[in-house]
Amino acid sequence: MIRLFVADDLSPGARIPLGPDPARYLLAVMRRGVGDTLLVFNGRHGEWRARIAEAGKRGAVLEAEAQARPQTLGPDLDLLIALVKRTRLELIVEKAAELGARRVRLVITRRTNADHANIARLQAIAAEAAEQTGRLDVPDVVAPERLERLLAGWSPDRALVFCDEAGEAEPLLHLLVRGAGGGGGEAPEGAAKFRRTAAILNGPEGGFDPAERDGLRAAPFTRPVSLGPRILRADTAAISALALWQAAAGDWAACPATAPVPN
Ligand code: SAM
Repeated sequence: MIRLFVADDLSPGARIPLGPDPARYLLAVMRRGVGDTLLVFNGRHGEWRARIAEAGKRGAVLEAEAQARPQTLGPDLDLLIALVKRTRLELIVEKAAELGARRVRLVITRRTNADHANIARLQAIAAEAAEQTGRLDVPDVVAPERLERLLAGWSPDRALVFCDEAGEAEPLLHLLVRGAGGGGGEAPEGAAKFRRTAAILNGPEGGFDPAERDGLRAAPFTRPVSLGPRILRADTAAISALALWQAAAGDWAACPATAPVPN
């Protein structure tokens, strides 16, 4: 069933005008017409079945009929990603939407080779990925901010892991399993916060510079983590970290740390 993200409020009989692009996709590409139904969601009112009420050259109008799924949100997980080359950044935003990141915050570090990004395009990629993946919201893509400024204004109740390819760092999975009370070591409450409202920070192609790494390690709300012995490209690292987090602490049927490992 086709799913479309719309900005409009959704209620029985609500009329939802579609602009030229979504209308062309629906009518010309997907060859739907008046009377056909699809699913719409707006990130606030759940998912609704809607019918094409009007169709024309310049647009279309949908009419919401009934709620198909109540509004739910995935885990409160932010991905902070240092600006990388456009195609890789677009891939990261698309995969972050599929992997359930709530927000994608773009970061300018000392080794990023850009200080701006096409937010409208990235937000459209996030919306298209959300439509495909079945989630009921679209991650916000937040405009680039300098790392120092971002840390200075950081809310300490959001634990931040930063993927540190260069330093001694605990494996991300180990930190998350300990936070669930497994694996021994530091008292779990020190690690538990990384399983709740959390954020994952990835560096750029050139990595973090030593002063940045020191600043990150000195912050009380951060923890360096390792993604294994090999240096991963920024997109691979971001996707791996999100997948690990969802599997260990998120909505991938989180495996409790004490669950027996299936043989
Ligand atoms: N400085 C790296 C080098 O020596 O080539 C390049 C950085 S890597 C391409 C981009 C980012 O991915 C890093 O800053 C880090 O955040 C993350 N990353 C890559 N491999 C990692 C690993 N094994 N453990 C933790 N983070 C990793």
